[in-house]
Amino acid sequence: MARYTDAVCRLCRREGKKLFLKGERCYTDKCAVVRRAYAPGQHGQGRKKASEYGIQLRAKQQAKRYYGVLESQFRHYFELADRKQGVTGENLLRLLESRLDNVVYRLGFASSRPEARQLVTHRHFTVNGKRVNIPSFRVKPGDVIAVYDKSRNSDKFKMIMEANGSRPAPKWLEVDRANFKATVLSLPNREDIDLDVEETLIVELYSK
Ligand code: SF4
Repeated sequence: MARYTDAVCRLCRREGKKLFLKGERCYTDKCAVVRRAYAPGQHGQGRKKASEYGIQLRAKQQAKRYYGVLESQFRHYFELADRKQGVTGENLLRLLESRLDNVVYRLGFASSRPEARQLVTHRHFTVNGKRVNIPSFRVKPGDVIAVYDKSRNSDKFKMIMEANGSRPAPKWLEVDRANFKATVLSLPNREDIDLDVEETLIVELYSK
């Protein structure tokens, strides 16, 4: 299971926006985008006019980085989205949004998507009563996601719930924080997905 292991704040600086990959730190003045609001590297402060291709590429990179997905897997999601009925860009975001690690983050059971990924990998969650350790596992309507019984009283989860307990869950998920569980009511529509990315640019890029 390949994943990006370099400094994640560089990714935000490269995209020129917060991707919220570090939990609480992202909301403080320590955020690298706040402290150094230019791209990393030797030419990071140079002025560049982006081409049409460059703008499309950045949209794709941002979506990949928000969800912590590498290129080949992202391409696979696009091909799946393209084969489905409906609007390809929306299908793509819906597929990404239904990943278990993203759902755990959206529910406030993790402070960031990278943390959610790690918690899933470490078998802290169940889906319909079975432990699942695959971050890319796709949830479907009716699925019940829960924190594993023995993990609920750990210091880690107490801290996470304290920090994220008041974060509202999206309307396609029904969360029961007192019982550490949630139900998937439906898959999200585009307006339910809080993501600052123009998915049509991604479709244009891959359709060249
Ligand atoms: Fe991005 Fe968070 Fe790092 Fe800021 S602190 S640069 S939002 S990962």
